[in-house]
Parts: sequence; C-alpha cells; structure tokens
Amino acid sequence: MSRLDLHLHTTHSDGSCTPTEVIGLAHQAGVTALAITDHDITSGIPEAITAGEQYGIEIIPGVEISSLMGSSELHILGYFLDWQDTDLNQRLKSLRDSRHHRNPQIVDRLQRLGIDITYDEVRALAGSDSVGRPHIARALMNKGVVTSAKEAFDRFLGDGKAAYVPRELPSPADAIRWIKEAHGLAVLAHPTWVKLADQPLAELIRRLKADGLDGMEVYYSTHAARQTREYLSLAQQLGLLVTGGSDFHGLTKPDIEVGIGKGSLHIPTSLLPKIKERVAQS
Ligand SMILES: [Zn+2]
Ligand SMILES: [Zn+2]
Repeated sequence: MSRLDLHLHTTHSDGSCTPTEVIGLAHQAGVTALAITDHDITSGIPEAITAGEQYGIEIIPGVEISSLMGSSELHILGYFLDWQDTDLNQRLKSLRDSRHHRNPQIVDRLQRLGIDITYDEVRALAGSDSVGRPHIARALMNKGVVTSAKEAFDRFLGDGKAAYVPRELPSPADAIRWIKEAHGLAVLAHPTWVKLADQPLAELIRRLKADGLDGMEVYYSTHAARQTREYLSLAQQLGLLVTGGSDFHGLTKPDIEVGIGKGSLHIPTSLLPKIKERVAQS
C-alpha cells in the first residue's frame, strides 16, 4: 500500500535520524512521497533529495515554522517553497537564534531553583547538534533530578512550568507570509495542539485563511478518528487543502513511526495531486 508522509523531522532540527535514514525508513513503510519539515530550517533538504533519488521517493521541500498566538505556539508548515530563498533563510536563522538565546536563560532559571546544572554540560550533550530543550531534559536525567524526559518537561521545561522561558516568535500571519513570499503553501500543523473547542478553532482557522493559509493537517499521528473526520469536514467547509503527516522525530518521539504514526495512520496519496494543483495556481 503506498502512502504519503508530509511531516518529518531529521537531525537538522530535533529529530534523531539523518535525512538519509528517514528516507530509508520511509521506503520500508511504503511511502512514495514525503516532505522533510524541520523546525525553522531547510538545510536537510539537499541530502533528502539525493536519498529520495536513490530510493525513488518524491521529496517535497518543506519547513515547520513556530509562531506565537497569545501564549500558545502555533506551527505553520510550508510546502513546495523555494527553500534556498535568501529572505526565507534569513528569517529562519533569526528565529533559530532566538532559541539559542533562550536555552542559557532556561539553565539560569534551573540554577536559581537550586539545581546544579551548567550550560556547558548541556552543550556537551548536544554535541554537534543545536541545543534544545531535549538536551536540557537529558542533563536533568543524567543528574538524577528527574527520571524521564517527560518528567523534565512536566516539572521544569514545558510551557508555563518552573524554568520555562517563552520564545520570541513571529505571529501566525507573519509565518504564513514568510512561506508565501518564498512561493510555498502554508498549512496549519496538528490543529489538535491549538487546544481550542470546535467553534473557536473554526474561527481561528477562518482568520488564518484570510491571512493566506492554504491548508490544514487533517491526518496526524495523534488525531483520533473523530478528530480526523471533523477536521476533514472543516477543511472542506473552508475550502482548505487537506494534508497529513506523522511528525516523526525518531528517538525523541519513539512511539511514532514514519508513514504510519502510531500504527493506524494512513495518509492517502490522492491528496498530493490536489496540493500540486494549488501550487501550480499560486
Ligand atoms: Zn509542530
Ligand atoms: Zn513537527
């Protein structure tokens, strides 16, 4: 059975597999077309394209941009964009830099909470990867402060928790504009994360559509069947494209596999021609 997966992370952001490894896994899962959507970076795409040619898998250039609406993060996926576009990459770089400023601040807060941790220790754990909260979580585990990454996020690192430091992020409208200016399609990722009831969510998506949103991620690893049906009908009502992806991260989210999510995810390949049609029109 051939399938799509339009939401995958690699070592270029917070995934644990290289682009080549991700594409090898996609091949095993029967995925015929996929999008690499690393957080705020496009540097994994060239390797993915090379590996895609080897395996005969179509690679759609993508990105996942973090934006902020009130106190909650909204993720906007970009597809078929000019991933080498200078403006886009400059914008993404400043977004990544804001994360780098934030990590030392998180460590600072942990120190003030009486935890014996230094930023150098966290950086050593990250090795050649860019430092992220998962590395801080691992440092806390190594020190016996917590017993799992989940506990680290629940107690210290998660949104609003004891050592949380908010990021400086673009608004959803800006994230959409960045993608459109790089000639891409903008799609709301995992609508279930927005944590809004049906009616406010529909209103939000309507506003985002007015800002240029092209589609929504209807098929997703953690969407219940009922949610998938509701999002599908919402997308149809609003005239939005339907997309889907696993949000594979490798070891960072060990229960999610390429192409099949938690096992029951199936993203129909018939979505892709409609997405391409929209690209051709834009
Ligand atoms: Zn996301
Ligand atoms: Zn993601």
